[in-house]
Amino acid sequence: MKILIAADMEGVSGVTRWEETDPTHREYSRFRKIMTDEINAAIAGAADAGANEFAVADGHGDGTNILIEELDQRARLNSGGNSPLSMVQGVDQETAGIFFIGYHARSGSQNAVLAHTWSSGRIANLWLNGILMGEYGLNAAVAGHFGVPVLMISGDQTACAQAVELLGKLETVVVKQASGYFAAGCLSPQVTIPAIQESAKRAVLRLKGGTSPKPFVVQTPVRVTVEFRQPEAADRAVRLPGAKRLDGLRIDFTVPDMLDAYAGFRAAVKQSYD
Ligand SMILES: [Zn+2]
Repeated sequence: MKILIAADMEGVSGVTRWEETDPTHREYSRFRKIMTDEINAAIAGAADAGANEFAVADGHGDGTNILIEELDQRARLNSGGNSPLSMVQGVDQETAGIFFIGYHARSGSQNAVLAHTWSSGRIANLWLNGILMGEYGLNAAVAGHFGVPVLMISGDQTACAQAVELLGKLETVVVKQASGYFAAGCLSPQVTIPAIQESAKRAVLRLKGGTSPKPFVVQTPVRVTVEFRQPEAADRAVRLPGAKRLDGLRIDFTVPDMLDAYAGFRAAVKQSYD
């Protein structure tokens, strides 16, 4: 049984500032270690319940955050940037389920640490078929394309609640109680790491028992609507084939399936940069 651990950093235990997720800042090394420990806990828990193959996708920044020398030796690490499936690189039809570790709420959320959707500087909102969602939804929809359900999420309370609302009753681990964009009541990793292990175990047991959420499958064709923060970014992104300008900040495009939707969204974000 193969499990993909899709990891991000803003929802890791203790993180409340961008600097803590930024490789050029001295605090970063502390939190990449905690990120790695959380992933190892998820692997250990899933293995306790009988999973025996583990892929890990390093989904933050340039995808080089996880300490491979400390990673559970049963895992294969998908590291680096611009891989074909980005934050869920490694998902395929053989994958039994996905865990989201260190995830964050969507852009614009209240009481949500570092809440954003793909690019905090560029993207105000993202909709798939008119449904507002963050990275948890976008990446879940890519997994759903392969028939793979999201089984658990860790992050602040708002990230967990948004994932449950969209994806159904998956396992959640609230590692911090956000009280603002840069503020949270944080639990010690000595508490959150065992909680992640327990939750991962439960998630796989529920999958085996048939009580985990269904894959999140979006209807096709998929309409992608992107609201940028600057009109200039929309000026650029609307050059993509098939894109239409809706107003100053928004574009949309409709594509045959979720893989094209993911590729198109990523291209629109990149296109909006210099
Ligand atoms: Zn991130």
